[in-house]
Amino acid sequence: MAERNMRSVNADASKKRRIMAKVLSGKISLRQIDEHADPNDAVAIRRDATAQLTKTEIDNIGSARIDYSIIQGKNAENVIGMITVPVGVAGPLKINSGHSNKEVFVPMATTEGALIASISRGMKAVNMSGGAVARVIEDGMARGPVFSFNSIVEIERFIDWLPRNEGKIREVAEGTTNHGKLKGIKLIVSGNNVFLRFKYSTGDAMGMNMVTIATEAACRYIERNFKGARLVAVSGNMCSDKKPSMINATEGRGKTVVAEALVPEGVLKRVFNTTADTVHELNYIKNWVGSARAGSPTHFNAHFANSIAAIFLATGQDAAQVVESSSGYTITQVRGRDLYISVTLPSLEVGTVGGGTGLPTQREALSIMGVSGAGKPEGSNSMKLAEIIAATVMCGELNLLAALATRELGKAHQKLGRNIRSR
Ligand code: NAP
Repeated sequence: MAERNMRSVNADASKKRRIMAKVLSGKISLRQIDEHADPNDAVAIRRDATAQLTKTEIDNIGSARIDYSIIQGKNAENVIGMITVPVGVAGPLKINSGHSNKEVFVPMATTEGALIASISRGMKAVNMSGGAVARVIEDGMARGPVFSFNSIVEIERFIDWLPRNEGKIREVAEGTTNHGKLKGIKLIVSGNNVFLRFKYSTGDAMGMNMVTIATEAACRYIERNFKGARLVAVSGNMCSDKKPSMINATEGRGKTVVAEALVPEGVLKRVFNTTADTVHELNYIKNWVGSARAGSPTHFNAHFANSIAAIFLATGQDAAQVVESSSGYTITQVRGRDLYISVTLPSLEVGTVGGGTGLPTQREALSIMGVSGAGKPEGSNSMKLAEIIAATVMCGELNLLAALATRELGKAHQKLGRNIRSR
């Protein structure tokens, strides 16, 4: 028995050596290794080949324990291992959201020292103020194909045709998915081109693949049934995916969500040693005047991207969507001597099903917040996640504004971000 095991180990090793030799001699590409070995062996062979071809030592990239068969054909290609990123928890945060009412710990993956500590300090102040309130006020993932026509005369006919055929288009689009529902189609004309912005509810999924597949089917129907409409591309940037845009800020994309808190004078004094007037003035001059003068189209905030990137990484969201997900507005008011603060995130694109959310560590991170997988009712987990993220973002805004007001920003980063204790 032992001899047979040894023979099979030797056979495996010699098979790997043969594949490796073919890769190094250029007979098969890094991608083609997948056709010659099982997913876990393929990752190891590709990593060794990459190390040899680039004359580097990359053992740490291979150190994470994971079954690569769950990644192949789904999450990444040409995989050689995993990058590990520290993950911490901020909180707890008391949150009254539209979909739950409880305390949550929020997992954040980051290499920026001081970030999780600063969000946690903001959460402490918000908890002392009675907690955060958060609501998703609009939900819809957009895909924006573009069609070309010969002339505006045809476009005029198309503008008349589209609403009369929306029912059939909806049927075709929704026929591709069990969870996506078409909410509407917006039409924008530019010369002889027509941009359509399809918007869908997508249950607990962020929905980008879902709505792309559905919209492709709808586009085929339009081309077949309206003579003169030529699809240029299923995405004409009117969506807008992974790019900053005014249309996402005004029409919404993914979840449009608002979080707020009323922070009493005493809490501002005790936690931050500051006042409502100071934070409000700073918010106005920095986040509104400063952003306007800098020409920021949609980011009138201090650092939404910090919380969003860290939560996206921890929970398997599409990291590139931090671009539009971190657009938004921080609003403050002085009420008596207390501070009202709110954040509005018009295009927060998140899901608890699909994409990277099912990977083992990302799924665990979602489960820390009680939002892993499909919600009951459907869609409620992705709504809860959006509300938790918005409330976290607000705590980050409060803390950073207060830290800037009291000139503590550099000190905190020196202490927690450079491993140098205060001198
Ligand atoms: P997905 O992993 O492609 O699909 C998730 C699927 O889960 C849904 O389509 C749905 O199937 C199913 N599902 C099961 N239970 C569900 C529930 N409760 N709610 C909703 N869906 C449920 O994920 P996706 O969210 O559509 O797309 C995300 C991925 O798209 C990410 O990996 C992202 O990086 C990538 N992405 C793609 C594009 C693109 O242009 N295609 C652009 C940006 C990002 P049914 O549809 O059959 O109902």
